[in-house]
Amino acid sequence: MEDCIFCKIAKKEIPSSIIYEDEYAVAFNDLNPQAPTHILVIPKKHFTSLNDLDDEKTMSALFKAVKNVTKKMNINEYRTVINTGETAGQTVFHLHIHILAGRPLKWPPG
Ligand code: AMP
Ligand code: ZN
Repeated sequence: MEDCIFCKIAKKEIPSSIIYEDEYAVAFNDLNPQAPTHILVIPKKHFTSLNDLDDEKTMSALFKAVKNVTKKMNINEYRTVINTGETAGQTVFHLHIHILAGRPLKWPPG
């Protein structure tokens, strides 16, 4: 999708620190980390949010990518977050899974 920053990252049109990539997904470090480890996993195909995700191959690929990334980074304890919609905190409208690790995380989230 034109003018989507995460589509541009997936196509490597803008720089990011990509740490994992497969046929369906890319993972890179969050620009504004909220924990010592803060990684974003995105589908290569554009979906605005989880509400939009209708492709089962991508659904399973995203979970596989999270597992592959955490394995690669040697992270056993972490939180995954998907913000859906503005009131839930979504600011980039290309579906992404946050992986947060490296510090104790409180519950409930703010
Ligand atoms: P959300 O608020 O759930 O939509 O998360 C969007 C995340 O994308 C935020 O944590 C931002 O820090 C992160 N972000 C925005 N632009 C970039 C970028 N160019 N590279 C890496 N992370 C980004
Ligand atoms: Zn996009």
